[in-house]
Amino acid sequence: EEEEVVEEEYLFKVVIIGDSAVGKSNLLSRYARNEFNLHSKATIGVEFQTQSVDVDGKEVKAQIWDTAGQERFRAVTSAYYRGALGALLVYDISRCSTFDSIARWLDELNTHSDTTVARMLVGNKCDLETLREVSVEEGKALAEAEGLFFIETSALDSTNVKAAFEIVIKEIYNNVS
Ligand code: GDP
Ligand code: MG
Repeated sequence: EEEEVVEEEYLFKVVIIGDSAVGKSNLLSRYARNEFNLHSKATIGVEFQTQSVDVDGKEVKAQIWDTAGQERFRAVTSAYYRGALGALLVYDISRCSTFDSIARWLDELNTHSDTTVARMLVGNKCDLETLREVSVEEGKALAEAEGLFFIETSALDSTNVKAAFEIVIKEIYNNVS
């Protein structure tokens, strides 16, 4: 008699939030397709990308959501957050106003989530060192105060992009299993 092996399935929703033009869409396109766009327009069409990640020998699928540019109108809908188990809160290290906005994005995320959400603070555009307005220490301090993971990334030169997503995905896996 043959034994049937039932594989457990993991599908985790992850949302990317943060001010306009901090590099959210490029972080996702770099991660999912290894693509970068210097003149990217507001995302049209695709709502999310699905990526498979190996965690402890198990195939985990992350459904990663990108805003369709609604953040410009401060109107990211509750549907966007619904069911999210992970979040990347992105700012641009060369624009301190985008770092100051993180508190508001955190509030919005907390308002819309009723479960534990794995949260990563992401300081993007770390290739722009000469234009830096937010220090690594400021990023770390905010992350510590709010209980977030922290990483600096560059969607342009790929620094830490994979790590930013995969640390969140692994944390979700730890939270649910
Ligand atoms: P979004 O509005 O948050 O989705 O931001 P986009 O991904 O559309 O990026 C906004 C602009 O920033 C575009 O011109 C990108 O080419 C640029 N950009 C995104 N990521 C980086 C990065 O890591 N480094 C640099 N130098 N530019 C970036
Ligand atoms: Mg975008």
